[in-house]
Amino acid sequence: MYKPICSIFGPLALLMKLIKTTAELNLVLAQARKSKKKIGLVPTMGALHEGHLNLVKRALFKSDVVIVSIFVNPTQFNDQADLNAYPRTLEKDIVRLGEISSALIVFHPEVEEFYGDQLKAKSFDFKQLDSVMEGAHRPGHFDGVATVVELLFKSTKPNIAFFGEKDYQQTLIVKQLVKQKRLGISIEVCPTIREANGLAQSSRNERLSSQARSKAAFIYEQLLWVKRRFSTASFERLRYAVTDSFAEATDFELEYFEIAQVPELTLSLERKKNTKYRAFIAARIEGVRLIDSIALNE
Ligand code: AMP
Repeated sequence: MYKPICSIFGPLALLMKLIKTTAELNLVLAQARKSKKKIGLVPTMGALHEGHLNLVKRALFKSDVVIVSIFVNPTQFNDQADLNAYPRTLEKDIVRLGEISSALIVFHPEVEEFYGDQLKAKSFDFKQLDSVMEGAHRPGHFDGVATVVELLFKSTKPNIAFFGEKDYQQTLIVKQLVKQKRLGISIEVCPTIREANGLAQSSRNERLSSQARSKAAFIYEQLLWVKRRFSTASFERLRYAVTDSFAEATDFELEYFEIAQVPELTLSLERKKNTKYRAFIAARIEGVRLIDSIALNE
């Protein structure tokens, strides 16, 4: 059975439920499911920041019962060092969630609960969507993401699930997963929340020194620059300028800059009429990999 977590995490989290297994979750949600309450799910890997908390607030607004999952999913990491370095701050996360609402359900399964002794991602075919950018640069990443999202959906059976535009390519993968598996879950995409200097909030920002954290605003500045020039400059010129700026910014290692047609994610070399585009950057600073993107012509 679930246990109230007030004793561990203080009075703010008074009525919050910390749940570790699907079986407990089924017990806690039985009544809500029976009375057809709208169940909202916010999947996270924890180390919560304002970007996550905004998803939770949207979920509270749009659903009757909100589950926030906190699970660092090993199968979506193609780099063991990155997985080991991923921040884990459960107690702090629970206090922050308790400050928003004591009615949240926190689902924090152990790795074995989801994977047993078979720590392996399933194979998916998302065609173009996972063959570019994050899919190309992090082999197996989206198989891992789709595997855990499917497991989370099966466990929590939400009506609606909330994802951040910050991981734009991931939102397309999740929508495709829902379509392919006919899961009937609506996917709500919430805007990217940024630090005051424009840097997209990310759990990985915690690994940056304060100098790097302020320098990392450069990524969003480049995206804004591309957006400003988008209607007048050729894609080639934009690509050249961004690549050049990163080459001069020696603290950074640019992994990719792409302009892609959305929602198909076809990489584009020139502009077509009546087509929406988005620019994407992945770059490292102090060895920490950061991603961001921007809509170029809404
Ligand atoms: P993560 O814990 O990084 O796996 O992220 C969990 C969810 O929060 C994903 O849907 C992310 O896209 C979303 N998210 C992460 N950072 C932000 C942000 N800065 N603004 C909005 N959503 C975010």
